[in-house]
Amino acid sequence: MVRPKLLAPGGSLEMARQAFLNGADSVYVGAKGWSRRTAEYELEDVEIEAIVELASSMGKGVRVALNTLFSSQELSLFIEKLKRFESMGVEGVILTDPGVMALSKELCPDLEVHVSAGANAINNEDLFFYREIGVDMVVAPCNITVEELAQMKRTVNVGLEVFLHSNTCFTYLGKCLMSSYFRYSSHIDEYGKDHYWGSPNRGGYCHRVCKARWNLEDAEAEMKNEMFLALDDLPAYVEAGVDCLKIQGREYNPRLIGEIVALYSQIVDSLQDGSFYHRLDFFRDRVEELSLRRDRERNRRTSRVLEEAERDLEVASVA
Ligand code: SF4
Repeated sequence: MVRPKLLAPGGSLEMARQAFLNGADSVYVGAKGWSRRTAEYELEDVEIEAIVELASSMGKGVRVALNTLFSSQELSLFIEKLKRFESMGVEGVILTDPGVMALSKELCPDLEVHVSAGANAINNEDLFFYREIGVDMVVAPCNITVEELAQMKRTVNVGLEVFLHSNTCFTYLGKCLMSSYFRYSSHIDEYGKDHYWGSPNRGGYCHRVCKARWNLEDAEAEMKNEMFLALDDLPAYVEAGVDCLKIQGREYNPRLIGEIVALYSQIVDSLQDGSFYHRLDFFRDRVEELSLRRDRERNRRTSRVLEEAERDLEVASVA
């Protein structure tokens, strides 16, 4: 059985160090203003360079998320970034826009291209298309079942990556526009790139407005948005030949990320040496403990981003 790669978040140099020390093969980082996270968890090019140097000293890899959508005016900025990251020695880039994926393969053929979960590749035809334009890996949206993944992997010869730690939105991630309606102000940065604060697709971030209490025809309701740390599906993922297992969470504490990576590294080892089911109770306890700590951090952050969105709405209604 081939051992899948373990990919962890690199929200900071310290997080990348924790991830590598605890068994991650690679980390992914967000270039400032160009990924689907808030600026405080994205990195300047010089910070990314430091992580690439650390990775290469430890025999590890770095991928850069540039997974927003660009206008034609922003393409030259993107190409500059792409070439800079290639010369730094990053192993690949995570992209959402199909046109930009083909362009990247043309300009920098040695740089791996990974299709972001935000592109919503949900069926075999999507996978055939991405393989056709030369991508190396497709990140599967969280809503896809293990059975669907196994079937996709059998049918299309392209790398597949799945989330071990993420959240399942009730929509498809890249197609949810709710946050943009709540916070629609924008600004153009000093390089000429446009950022819409409420849109993760356009340089802003998701304000998780689905987590607010919604009054739907007088009945209070909460939309589905659950965090998970995968466990029971792991044997089936590995059996299906999934190539990469991804842990999300650039916004968490580096120590917590280090512990999550260490756990999954042990789980992947146990699947290789056949001890997974003997150790399942231990893994389950550990997943539960880490989930509680993760939830505390996440709830604090959700309250903060919801408050930001509500403040923007109040300003807009006063104006
Ligand atoms: S608003 Fe909710 S459902 Fe939409 S992308 Fe954000 S977390 Fe997912």
